[in-house]
Amino acid sequence: MSLLSIRNLDVRHGLLQAVRGVSFDLAKGDVLALIGANGAGKTTLMRSIAGAHLPAAGNILLDGEDISTVPSHKRIARGIALVPEGRRLFSQMTVEENLLLGKTAGRTGDWNIERVFDAFPNLKPRRHAKTGHLSGGEQQATAIGRALMSNPDILLLDEVSLGLSPLVVDRVYAQLHALLTSGTTIVLVEQDLGRAMNVASRVICMLEGRVVLDKPAVNVSRDEITQAYFGLHRAAGERSAS
Ligand code: ATP
Repeated sequence: MSLLSIRNLDVRHGLLQAVRGVSFDLAKGDVLALIGANGAGKTTLMRSIAGAHLPAAGNILLDGEDISTVPSHKRIARGIALVPEGRRLFSQMTVEENLLLGKTAGRTGDWNIERVFDAFPNLKPRRHAKTGHLSGGEQQATAIGRALMSNPDILLLDEVSLGLSPLVVDRVYAQLHALLTSGTTIVLVEQDLGRAMNVASRVICMLEGRVVLDKPAVNVSRDEITQAYFGLHRAAGERSAS
């Protein structure tokens, strides 16, 4: 059985339909790169999986159970953790206090504060610093660490590179590497396609709210990605996938 199943999902922001008939399954250990141009609907889909938006239609199943209307705090307790775009840390709280918030989900597992500091060694000397005083890379590491503290089965990483210098992004990805190869199921939204394809086992490309490409990462060419990303297959007269 799939760990996560998305079935014909529609999500709206008022009159605007941001996600249109999206369906896919994720197996345990999949690392899914969710790609697409600005406004394609990636963040809306990630937030919908995390419970921040309720679907207008369709279903989200976790381990076969329909969680479409389960509120976000209960989804964390069921093992879905989102590292949101923009990190959303509590800037007046310390690194350690932010990390401990991840524990409030009450899930047990291998992740604890010391293991987070092992995974992100640059955070340890900053554990008592307020996160508002941290560098972008340290803030991103704290946001990822906070999610890991909830011992998730599915980790949703939305644009972890955003606003970071290439050098810092390299460091964050190096630190993520152990996680990416540890069997944790991950959905990664990443604008840097090369970086996303390096770590992903599977790639889904969204265009105007729809899935237009869904393939194992090893089977997909740069050309296919470019065509899906920019909707060039439609310009060539083909029907878009839906
Ligand atoms: P980006 O890479 O720019 O973050 P995205 O692929 O993540 O893009 P979304 O942020 O999900 O796309 O946006 C999808 C569409 O929904 C866009 O047209 C966007 O303007 C719109 N949208 C997103 N959030 C809201 C909101 N809170 N209210 C109204 N419209 C929204």
